Amino acid sequence: MSEASPNDPIRKVCVIGAGTMGAGIAAQVANAGVPVLLLDIVRDPANRNAVAQGALDRLAKAEPAAFMSKRAAKLVEVGNIEDDLPRVAECDWVIEAIVERLDLKHALYEKLEGVRRPGTAVSSNTSTIPLEQLIAGRGEGFARDFLITHFFNPPRYMRLLEVVAGPASDAALVAKVSDFADRALGKTVVRAKDTPGFLANRVGTFWIQQAINAAIDLGLSVEEADAVVGKPMGVPKTGVFGLVDLVGIDLMPHLKASLTATLPEDDAYRAIAIDHPLIMKMIADGYTGRKGKGGFYRLNREAGKRKEAIDLATGEYRAAAKPPSLPGAVFKDLKALVGLPGKLGAYAWAVLAPTLSYAASLVPSASDDIVAIDVAMKLGYNWKSGPFELIDKLGTAAFAERLKAEGKPVPAIVELAAGRPFYRVEAGKRQALGLDGEYHDVARAAGVVLLEDIKLAAKPLLKTASAALWDVGDGVAALEFTGKMNALDAEVMKLIGQAIPLVAEKFKGLVIYNEGSHFSAGANLGLALFAMNIAAWGEIEKLVAGGQQAMKALKYAPFPVVGAPSGMALGGGCEVLLHCDAIQAHAESYIGLVECGVGLVPGWGGNGELLDRWRHNPALPKGPMPAVAKVFETVSTATVSKSAAQAIELGFLRPTDQVTMNRDRLLADAKARVLALAEGYQPPEPPVFRLPGAGGKAALDMAVQGFRARGMATPHDEVVSGALARILTGGDADLIDTVTEDELLAAERREFTSLVRNPATQARIEHMLKTGKPLRN
Ligand code: NAD
Repeated sequence: MSEASPNDPIRKVCVIGAGTMGAGIAAQVANAGVPVLLLDIVRDPANRNAVAQGALDRLAKAEPAAFMSKRAAKLVEVGNIEDDLPRVAECDWVIEAIVERLDLKHALYEKLEGVRRPGTAVSSNTSTIPLEQLIAGRGEGFARDFLITHFFNPPRYMRLLEVVAGPASDAALVAKVSDFADRALGKTVVRAKDTPGFLANRVGTFWIQQAINAAIDLGLSVEEADAVVGKPMGVPKTGVFGLVDLVGIDLMPHLKASLTATLPEDDAYRAIAIDHPLIMKMIADGYTGRKGKGGFYRLNREAGKRKEAIDLATGEYRAAAKPPSLPGAVFKDLKALVGLPGKLGAYAWAVLAPTLSYAASLVPSASDDIVAIDVAMKLGYNWKSGPFELIDKLGTAAFAERLKAEGKPVPAIVELAAGRPFYRVEAGKRQALGLDGEYHDVARAAGVVLLEDIKLAAKPLLKTASAALWDVGDGVAALEFTGKMNALDAEVMKLIGQAIPLVAEKFKGLVIYNEGSHFSAGANLGLALFAMNIAAWGEIEKLVAGGQQAMKALKYAPFPVVGAPSGMALGGGCEVLLHCDAIQAHAESYIGLVECGVGLVPGWGGNGELLDRWRHNPALPKGPMPAVAKVFETVSTATVSKSAAQAIELGFLRPTDQVTMNRDRLLADAKARVLALAEGYQPPEPPVFRLPGAGGKAALDMAVQGFRARGMATPHDEVVSGALARILTGGDADLIDTVTEDELLAAERREFTSLVRNPATQARIEHMLKTGKPLRN
């Protein structure tokens, strides 16, 4: 059999084990556009692929979605290990994700050794089994091609990938797999040593156990514990008890068993790994969390869906209590949190001190690099700051002193810091403390450009209250939204106005990009509602017209503009993208014109732009109506894409727009896109539309009436979609009339400013701001 070379690209992947992880990994490989063979055991001799096929069927329905598009789903082929194992020879990477049993993994590897192409990577997704044990009994070639690639659940959404190489692993092959995981699968690769639980689960399991132990010891309620451990520590707001409910309480004894089987004898986790009788009883009685009868929290359906929490002392459910109110300072200052008087402050310290000490004690045994441990906790457990960043917030000196005062050991790396922080900024570069006691630049993967790093060394070129303009190098400028939720307002439009002449003079082009969790939540509804409440209609009209002008200025600027969204780009955020020359989207981009949900219509040119994309779509029949109907359907239902790939299907992105899988590579890719467009750049010609006129309007109205009759549309939906239909069809214009872009914009302004005066629209906006949910009036 011919040998594969580390230089061969990864063109096809085989995933063995179609359980939670294997199926999810297969979907993500397919999301990257790479074909996958997904194999599992034969359980039913008459239907030999049933297990893998069942997994594929479940994947298609998974929530949140596992596949980014229907096309991706078609890239997964199912099979079984009895008939199809030899087909691993077609693949460049074999990922084993079968049950966590060494005997079964060994048996599989033995078979694999006979059929795989030497030189193709084989990796295990094991959570706990050391690499050394996995390759025991295999030949030299297998050991050379073997590594551990530890994904997190769910594989599409969790960005962390821990990679463990053995002493015999081929460095070039490990680099090839890591690079594929980074660029194609979008993962942040963190190297870990071959130690139990690697990095994230090692620290995470300790943290969860310690938080539970301390809550029981100090007599806290689950609500109190989660209020302290959640937001103030920069941990997801579920806190620890809420998190354990989510992942399954029954997982705890399994984790404990597998970790204690391999941890060193003197490991601090052993001393805290207690099987609390309350928790063991909960598991035995089926109270395993959200998937079971309930967990530390539950909704009691018999008591009218009352939210309840368990009393940690008695094991009885009671009505959930309001979380304790904490002083504002604890959300900004970790020192204030551990300094709180009474049991809440004591609890914060009782969780943080041992957890942070434990994380620090893993240097250098589990990793030589504090950054790797911080990144692992941030991306594997969604902590806002990693353990070393948290120690910095407490102060390394204060942390060490309090440990000493309490007679607790101070970890060697904290001693090494000797009062200095673990991180510092020097000459515009972020640096971390190394094992040699010196600071070293925090290295980014090759080719990664982050605004976060640029900001350390530079000031913005322009700045208003809601936006800024940055020089991101190579002749490219970046426009950043900076308001709450990156909402858009007059201050953003002002910056766009100032930026255009500056970019035209000094740069080759512009990217619209930011590093918030969401590109933009859309226009600032709070401001709009305020203006409505005081009947400042002139202000609202100015905001609509000003926004339209700013969007047009972007569209017809004498340089290329590339939008680079990640996360949500809604309403006005979507309209900004629609006016760009090209989009470089992060794969996890959720794009939509959601104005109808709050009783409005897109008012910043979104209608015409979406229409323009659809009328050039060759898949639609000729004539003005099909494109209008498409836009009407998408906008009236406030449809939001669940991925960038789906945004292309919905017409928000053009088929020529491009997708970046790795969030950290988005800015670099967007810059490259600007530079590619800059050569001989010509702004677009203004479009002229042929709209279907009164006949088209009647057809759309009839469709909405049908929805009304079936109870699928509300009275105000009919009003709002009527306004939308008037914009898109040209209202009473005749079929042969042409409509210019400016005429369409004027229609948008008319309908928008009429809807804002409607009390039912105002009620929708108010409700959305109060509850975050749409009002169906
Ligand atoms: P799972 O129980 O959901 O799925 C395991 C799958 O492997 C099942 O479909 C089973 O039929 C199949 N299988 C068993 N023996 C097989 C064999 N010999 N050949 C082919 N298929 C076989 O398990 P999971 O949670 O997906 O875990 C899989 C691996 O990933 C384990 O090593 C686990 O430690 C690791 N892991 C799990 C998680 C997690 O959150 N669940 C996270 C990271 C890593």
